[in-house]
Amino acid sequence: MISLGIESTAHTFGAGIINEKAKILANVKDSYTTEKGGIHPTEAKLHHLNVKDKVVKDALEQANLTMKDIDIISFSQGPGLSPCLVVGMEKAKELAKTNGKPLVGVNHCIAHLEIGKALTKAKDPVLLYVSGANTQVIAYEGGKYRIFGETLDNGVGNFLDGFARYLGLGFPGGPKIQELALKGKNFIELPYVVKGMDVSFSGIQTNLKQKVDLKKYKIEDLAYSCQETIFAMLLEVAERAMAHCEKDELLLGGGVACNTRLKEMANIMCKERNAECFIPSNSVMVDNGAQIAHLGLIEYNAGIRMNIKDIDIKPYERTDDINVTWC
Ligand code: AMP
Ligand code: MG
Repeated sequence: MISLGIESTAHTFGAGIINEKAKILANVKDSYTTEKGGIHPTEAKLHHLNVKDKVVKDALEQANLTMKDIDIISFSQGPGLSPCLVVGMEKAKELAKTNGKPLVGVNHCIAHLEIGKALTKAKDPVLLYVSGANTQVIAYEGGKYRIFGETLDNGVGNFLDGFARYLGLGFPGGPKIQELALKGKNFIELPYVVKGMDVSFSGIQTNLKQKVDLKKYKIEDLAYSCQETIFAMLLEVAERAMAHCEKDELLLGGGVACNTRLKEMANIMCKERNAECFIPSNSVMVDNGAQIAHLGLIEYNAGIRMNIKDIDIKPYERTDDINVTWC
């Protein structure tokens, strides 16, 4: 069986094609970026409308397949920005209807977890999912992927993007902060906000902005201190979840997990507690269609069927809304 998946929860419109052995046959994407300022949902939607047909066409070409070879279509149902989600759903419905293929809507966060598991061979990991809008520590317990910890306000990516925006850098800001951080040498103390297994970033955001305004600190040092502080917070809660769930595997997912310092700190934490750290390639940690295709196929094979006319987007869907019948 071959599955084609469409991703459009936020900045990225992606189409991926995958087979039952989790071999990625194509993974094409086109992402909305800005020179200045953050992600504007309506502009991101227009971006997706402009690129959707080409992205799907390119994916089929990359895989050297036609729609006849595709067995099922899947798309990201949520969570995400409604204007963006609608574009992916409409394209997926169009493909399913015109080619007479089954359609499965899937949860974006669980897709990160499943593609990570499939590609790294992690068996029962705690996922540290750190993306733009989402920051969650997720693990399988009692029939669901449950959220053991999460941000109480901003997603860590949005927080980094906000800090970058304040420094006059464009979107996405995470990679720009990483570059600046490499040149930082002096650690400046920032608020460290962990509450149980949850984290919070808005106070750190305010504190950083105040420090920028003071013009007393080098922005490289602030970027460095920012990364050291927030990654320590994230790994502290991930480690607590691993201890709580008695799991000895950590899996990274989400765009922020492309950060080399976060990867390094994750590896150190796992080594110190005799656990294994699984880090998929950057191309599947950022939003992509292959992860959606993969979860669509898993759910289809588990017997999940959806009626095209009843399918809608689910912008606020949570990981633990889904009954995981395939584990
Ligand atoms: P996602 O929503 O999972 O595609 O992730 C997008 C987020 O990842 C954006 O907020 C980016 O700023 C962030 N990001 C991408 N690359 C990096 C990086 N190397 N370091 C930190 N954040 C990053
Ligand atoms: Mg994501």
